[in-house]
Amino acid sequence: MHILTSSPPPCGLYSQAWLGVSVLVFRTAPPAEFSPLFRIFAMSSSRIASNEQQLMDTVIPHSPVVKKPSDDGENGNQFEDMMTAYRSIIKHTGDDVERQGLFKTPKCAAEAMLFFTKGYEENLDNILNEAVFDEDHDEMVLVRDIEFFSLCEHHLVPFIGKVHIGYIPNKKILGISKLERIIEMFSRRLQLQERLTKQIATAILQAVQSAGVAVVIEASHMCMVMRGVQKINTTTSTSCMLGVFCDDPKTREELLTLIKK
Ligand SMILES: [Zn+2]
Repeated sequence: MHILTSSPPPCGLYSQAWLGVSVLVFRTAPPAEFSPLFRIFAMSSSRIASNEQQLMDTVIPHSPVVKKPSDDGENGNQFEDMMTAYRSIIKHTGDDVERQGLFKTPKCAAEAMLFFTKGYEENLDNILNEAVFDEDHDEMVLVRDIEFFSLCEHHLVPFIGKVHIGYIPNKKILGISKLERIIEMFSRRLQLQERLTKQIATAILQAVQSAGVAVVIEASHMCMVMRGVQKINTTTSTSCMLGVFCDDPKTREELLTLIKK
């Protein structure tokens, strides 16, 4: 086992156009030989710089969408392509796609995949529609434990967990349900946890022009749980700190303390 460390991003030296992203991977139920708590600690930093618009373009892609066939047959060919692909996958597992139990599976799997990736059909403008309110409030807003479901883009298997969001309003606040919709929009795509974290943070920053946004995600990846380390309690934590959460260690510390409570 390795313990990997690197320096955290030098937040204080940069403006909010810089992203500080750290990644911690740890086990909550360590093997008995590692006592009392074995921890893999991996921290990396990345910076996605230049101007804010470029940042948004980088982390909020707009992708083409395959939709379920409508009653008038529209999108039927695309959906048929997906079913054919699933038939092929089943066949190559060695099973019989024509047997009773699998006969409807390509259709069900295609429908499920479209649901799992319905976030491609959303965009930030629609979600934010009339949901940003003027409010003379400049204290931290923290929303914890928002559940999410996503698909790992490397293995197309789920990763699930919780999102914690903190932001410092700058005379504007966002409806709580809209935070959930933003998470849903980005998590219902083929994702990486690191990118999901950045996209949520950047979208909120754009929405409320906040003095600072912090997003922390804790997730369990089925590709690690079922085939990698094969330990069911393995979790991965990622964070993205923008603005004052990046520049001011005390504000960041206050947020992390509140999340742990
Ligand atoms: Zn994966």
